[in-house]
Amino acid sequence: MELIDKGVLIVLSGPSGVGKGTVRAKVFEESHHSLAYSVSMTTRKPRVGEVDGKDYFFVTHEVFKQRLAEGKFLEHAEFVGHFYGTPLDDVQKRLDAGKDVMLEIEVEGALQVKKVMPDACFIFVAPPSMDELHYRIINRGTEDPARVAGRMKKAEVEIGLAHEYDYIVINDTVENAKNRIMAIIDAQHSRSDRVLEGYRQKILNPN
Ligand code: 5GP
Repeated sequence: MELIDKGVLIVLSGPSGVGKGTVRAKVFEESHHSLAYSVSMTTRKPRVGEVDGKDYFFVTHEVFKQRLAEGKFLEHAEFVGHFYGTPLDDVQKRLDAGKDVMLEIEVEGALQVKKVMPDACFIFVAPPSMDELHYRIINRGTEDPARVAGRMKKAEVEIGLAHEYDYIVINDTVENAKNRIMAIIDAQHSRSDRVLEGYRQKILNPN
């Protein structure tokens, strides 16, 4: 029996290069929950293979600033020289329609979401070691050495803020991390503060 009528907002963060995207894709493949991914807006240029509207909405600085001034973002942040933001309307509409929504964002943005939506579920995806993170960023082959260094520095700051999250998931293997995140999402759907009122209504006033 499904008791939640409003979707759960799941905020997935963690250092750039830790493998959030890969894990997220696996979760979407296998989860039995109705999950929607919130596509962010960014001023970063597309990487090879990235698709506008699917991976990001790629926009100019001007467009980003205008959206920001119009209050169109749930959160936004500057990350290693580029702007990133979560479109507010999309998230709200999907949650209201009963869908779980997953954001994949860096820590500064996650902390902004925590202020306005404290009952969201905050998951920090962590690397098994800094060496492994370095290896993964280099292996991705999309960053020049200066940007690799920038992302490693940022990762240290982000790991320092991991205590702000409800859950820490070590991405040692994609399979393990995926299983842990799916278990966390399942648990959110059974939280008493989300389901108890609806349950009582159903059980005590069935008509
Ligand atoms: P990348 O350039 O590697 O795609 O993303 C850089 C960082 O920005 C990653 O940690 C990614 O999760 C984060 N990010 C992507 N979209 C958003 C967003 O809408 N808001 C925030 N705050 N961070 C984002």
